[in-house]
Amino acid sequence: MTSFNDFGLQEPITRALRDENYVTPTPIQAQTIPIALSGRDVIGIAQTGTGKTAAFALPILNHLIGNRRRPERKSARVLVLSPTRELSGQIADSFRTYGKYVRPFDVALAIGGVPINRQIRALQRGVEVLVATPGRLLDLVHSRALDINRIEVLVLDEADRMLDMGFIHDIKKIVAMLPRERQTLFFSATMPQQIVQLAGAMLNNPERVAVTPQASTAERIAQRVIHVDKPAKSALLTEVLKTESIDRVLVFTRTKHGADKVVRVLQKAGLAAEAIHGNKSQNQRERVLSAFRDGKLRTLIATDIAARGIDVDGVSHVINYDLPNIPESYVHRIGRTARAGRDGVAISFCDHEERAYLRDIERLIRMAITATDRRTGRQDHAAAPHHSANHQNERAHHRGNHQGRHGGGHGQQGARPQRQPQDKRKQDHEKNEPNGLGNVRFMQRTGEPRRSAGHRAQ
Ligand code: AMP
Repeated sequence: MTSFNDFGLQEPITRALRDENYVTPTPIQAQTIPIALSGRDVIGIAQTGTGKTAAFALPILNHLIGNRRRPERKSARVLVLSPTRELSGQIADSFRTYGKYVRPFDVALAIGGVPINRQIRALQRGVEVLVATPGRLLDLVHSRALDINRIEVLVLDEADRMLDMGFIHDIKKIVAMLPRERQTLFFSATMPQQIVQLAGAMLNNPERVAVTPQASTAERIAQRVIHVDKPAKSALLTEVLKTESIDRVLVFTRTKHGADKVVRVLQKAGLAAEAIHGNKSQNQRERVLSAFRDGKLRTLIATDIAARGIDVDGVSHVINYDLPNIPESYVHRIGRTARAGRDGVAISFCDHEERAYLRDIERLIRMAITATDRRTGRQDHAAAPHHSANHQNERAHHRGNHQGRHGGGHGQQGARPQRQPQDKRKQDHEKNEPNGLGNVRFMQRTGEPRRSAGHRAQ
């Protein structure tokens, strides 16, 4: 499919797409839309940033236009489950954008962290599309504000994140209440075993589609790592923010406390910055996010969890103030830049204790990241000290302590960048590794969330 006109979508949809200047479908859209239009179930392996929201929203809107009827009171015709408040809000906004010429068309949002009464009122007359986080959806069902036994289409978005965040039981409860006769569109960035099982239980003879977003994204992102002493990180960040030509930058810290500290340091240095994380109220988060989106705020500091689902175009730089201890988070983080065909820059600060994390990341992305050592001022392509024999010990130690965090058995090759290792040295290194790059296996303990409890609290 080379054009949105090829799908035979209803005119109100194609008109909205023209308004948005969407001409060419993204790969996930090209693959998913025809299958979803035929009424079949879909299992899509794709990340946020690949255009997957439109991949499910457009065929759903087409179904609603082709089968017009008022929804029953206290019910919805389409249910979209998403793991976070932010992502849910963005999905609802996308439905409103793509559905702006569809009438009648009501979209409701059911998310936690805000009063439930308005949501109850919004559902009273019934809505076409309900976008919800699982916990709040169950609250609404239990308080009899919502009946989900007439849902025609179910979307489960970011299923692997749902698993990470401990929502799997809620999802199973919700699915058990849905009618068996329905269409299900299921999306996940990775396919750990529990997600395969969940999909098996929820989907009826699904067609599978997959895109490899990281590979194409990674190619457009100039990645660098700066080895730095931990106490020097804040001065380095100030320097980078003052010297790089940055339009909009997302700075990642591992903890909420760390995010607030970075904001204070930057403000002291005369640089405007704000943080979003779990301790901030929904209002604060929305205010900061919209300032960032509108270009009024250049620097946003976030933890991994707070940043989930943030979809802001035009992020020119991602800075990893702390390296993530889960290598997949690195890929998610840097994927915030280089959106919509643009280029991006990802700069990672790596202190001594983070060398093992860097190694894990390089194994996952199958490339050595260009490194600068700020302690010596030396430019050092992929010959960073983290490949030293010493590091093997560090790594063994790291694995011993953090095995469980790698849960999730990422057998899905398609979700990985396919890049070849960049230099001979690294290839040699890989050959000697029993768990080399061509054969990446992460430890998995079934039933255990990917992150430690401490990390999940961010
Ligand atoms: P998503 O993966 O759904 O979060 O989409 C990522 C970004 O790509 C959003 O900003 C969308 O508005 C944009 N987008 C999605 N599909 C297209 C398309 N076919 N052409 C241009 N932009 C798109």
